[in-house]
Amino acid sequence: MALMPKSQTAAARSRIEDALSVADALCARRGKRFTPIRRKVLELLLQHQRSLKAYELLDEIRAVHPNATPPTVYRALDFLLEEGLVHRVDTLNTFIACRDADGAPHNLLVVCTACGRVAEIHDDVVRSRLAERIADAGFRLAGDEMEVKALCGDCRAAAPEHSHDHSHAHD
Ligand SMILES: [Zn+2]
Ligand SMILES: [Zn+2]
Repeated sequence: MALMPKSQTAAARSRIEDALSVADALCARRGKRFTPIRRKVLELLLQHQRSLKAYELLDEIRAVHPNATPPTVYRALDFLLEEGLVHRVDTLNTFIACRDADGAPHNLLVVCTACGRVAEIHDDVVRSRLAERIADAGFRLAGDEMEVKALCGDCRAAAPEHSHDHSHAHD
């Protein structure tokens, strides 16, 4: 629509359009309504490479729909979570659009704790091995998705591994 940021490349734009079409098709197949606000929330999340806090999302929605109330946005978010179109990132208390909503369910979210970027991984072998070990310890996984804390390539480059033995003499 008219309010797209100018910085978006054509490739990013078409990736977002593709993801929205997938969401459209999934909702239609499941008999769910992909209402304009649900679509808008998903679209805003898809525009970011990183996961967003709920208040960041709310701010962005209000820039487009000044009358949007928090409950409206949270209900839309709940819907998107239920349909697997959005993931909740517990590690950071943020939300991220699923990049592959009609693919295999993601059972591993790799979360960059520095910038909030998330990689989605599907690996049944790793998951079932881990579930076995966890069972050996007397626990059971609390959900289908597991989160792993990590640093993405950009953040690793920004924070070299030897930085911990820097001495800060000049502050
Ligand atoms: Zn996903
Ligand atoms: Zn990062």
